[in-house]
Amino acid sequence: MKITFPHIGDAHLIGRIFFSEIGIEIVTPGANTLKGLETGSGVSPDEICIPFKLMVANLMEAYRLGADTVIMPATMGPCRLGEYGELLKSILDSRGYPFQWILLDSFEAIGKRELLRRLTHVVSDSDKGKAQILRALLETYQVIKALERLDQRAHILAGYERSKGDCKKEVAACRRELGDASGIREAVRIIRNHLDRLEKVELDYDKKPLQLLLTGEIFSMIEPFANHHIEELLMDMGVSFEKRVTLGWWIRRTVINPFQSKDWFGRRNRYLPYSIGGYAKETVEEGVICSRKGYDGIIQVFPVGCMPEIVAKAVFARMMREKKLSVLTVIYDEMGGEAGYITRIEAFVDMLERRKRERTKQEKAKKEGKKSVLPGY
Ligand code: SF4
Repeated sequence: MKITFPHIGDAHLIGRIFFSEIGIEIVTPGANTLKGLETGSGVSPDEICIPFKLMVANLMEAYRLGADTVIMPATMGPCRLGEYGELLKSILDSRGYPFQWILLDSFEAIGKRELLRRLTHVVSDSDKGKAQILRALLETYQVIKALERLDQRAHILAGYERSKGDCKKEVAACRRELGDASGIREAVRIIRNHLDRLEKVELDYDKKPLQLLLTGEIFSMIEPFANHHIEELLMDMGVSFEKRVTLGWWIRRTVINPFQSKDWFGRRNRYLPYSIGGYAKETVEEGVICSRKGYDGIIQVFPVGCMPEIVAKAVFARMMREKKLSVLTVIYDEMGGEAGYITRIEAFVDMLERRKRERTKQEKAKKEGKKSVLPGY
């Protein structure tokens, strides 16, 4: 059995570490590219969203590299992504890619026993015992959390670094080294090492960088190709930002504590109290957090054709009026050109920076007892 699964951010990096720990080799298709997107578009239904098109291209390539088994989360929702397993299977079967499929549905949909049977099948080639596999699984989750921590620190510190690019370099070097890690222990050592180095980056706390919240559709948040590497772009711009929707976030909501995603949990959000598919409700909740915690603005990203996030976008329009929220929505299409996106993000950052400078100036003047000449201050 040669296992593969589509690219979703670090899933391959983490997957390789876990499977090599338990003695199973996986097949990893190349990183997402425009060419792959074109290939995927060629065999996908027209109206389907970009994540599907990228995934189908990944699997076609993995098949050519020798993979014969696909593992696919198929949580039967909360949006089309949860149904993709079935559709991918039917398209790839009809095109001559006869994989064996292991769909990891939620236990609510298929029952605990069936889910356990499928999970056992995934690791059936391993010569390790159940206890060892379970331990490897738990430790892999610690790797995910540590990597998440590294990203979070880099995103915040990038706004204060004295020498541009230091934080970005640390994160990139860590991922490069993780690509060669022989197992979990080495992966943890690599991440810790880079976390230490990150904490030693020279900072200038006199800087007052923008504090942004990056949110949006889950695939675009996790897979850098799908968001045109927006995290690197923001770090290059010297912005401090937080990104809460990550692979670890998804695991916590879907696997560790699925009740967190139930409607009753989020009814306090009056703008979108019920789940309408995808993670639109959660995106809107990010907006509530943004205004409560005093971020300077929010950037919402999603791929063209994503229905749930279009609803969230409409809700943001109301929140912009009522909560004075500054929101930039970036919708990525299938074109490769990046200049348009970059210009819009730069303009948004520039506008927020000018406003922040003006506010600081006005507050200073107020403290010194000078009368403001600007309306509203
Ligand atoms: S959230 Fe949107 S883009 Fe993502 S899989 Fe669902 S419909 Fe597609």
